[in-house]
Amino acid sequence: MESTVGTITAARATALSLESVSRRHGRRGGGEVVALDGVSCTVPAGSFTAVVGPSGSGKSTFLQCAAGLDRPTSGTVRVAGTDLGALSEAALTRLRRDRIGFVFQSHALNLVPSLTIEENVVLPLVLGGADPADGRVLDRGRKLLDRVGLAGHGGRGPATLSGGQQQRVAVARALVTEPDVIFADEPTASLDPESATLVLDLLRDAVRTEGRTVVMVTHDPAAAGRADTVLTMDGGRLR
Ligand code: ADP
Ligand code: MG
Repeated sequence: MESTVGTITAARATALSLESVSRRHGRRGGGEVVALDGVSCTVPAGSFTAVVGPSGSGKSTFLQCAAGLDRPTSGTVRVAGTDLGALSEAALTRLRRDRIGFVFQSHALNLVPSLTIEENVVLPLVLGGADPADGRVLDRGRKLLDRVGLAGHGGRGPATLSGGQQQRVAVARALVTEPDVIFADEPTASLDPESATLVLDLLRDAVRTEGRTVVMVTHDPAAAGRADTVLTMDGGRLR
């Protein structure tokens, strides 16, 4: 279900909103864990937001619910005006593929090892029905690899790249569909400081130069310092 005409203006201005979002997990033997406890926030389009907080404070749960990878127990999540809770599994899968970009913590989990890095970059387009042999698709993949400093390396396999290079490929892939929001969960956690800076520069650049929206979980104060807004989580709530 798409947003109605009346919400289109608001959808442009707000990339992501959470309204009283909670996520509870049943505990074996009774009781429950409240991973997310009534979180509300609004993320403007074209902004870079960092989500920080101690381990176990609900950062990953926040990201998973916001990105439509997990369904909240209660509350409403909207991506560019679309209420994720109103979508079928199939529609949610399409929305994630076409309108959301992901960069995960471990570079080892980000890329498909059997594909070249160029194929990895254009994978969301191909899964959306684009012809991988189409010149425009290939061109887009090459341009993005160029942008992340890997021009001419498109034919290589992920395993031949360093961790930092693999994370840069993951950023290129997250940008390929020109998504409404890019979510990153500790994207620099497994990287050396120099590679981490390169990856943060790319995310920052995507916000500055193309107006992309980035929401990044991090426990690195230097990484959080690159964001426009810092949301602090504690005990499943925003402080
Ligand atoms: P963070 O990313 O900040 O470390 P998480 O969002 O991973 O925090 O977890 C928040 C809380 O919810 C923690 O207490 C965690 O143990 C709990 N939790 C997360 N996922 C589950 C789950 N699938 N089942 C039970 N408890 C969970
Ligand atoms: Mg986490």
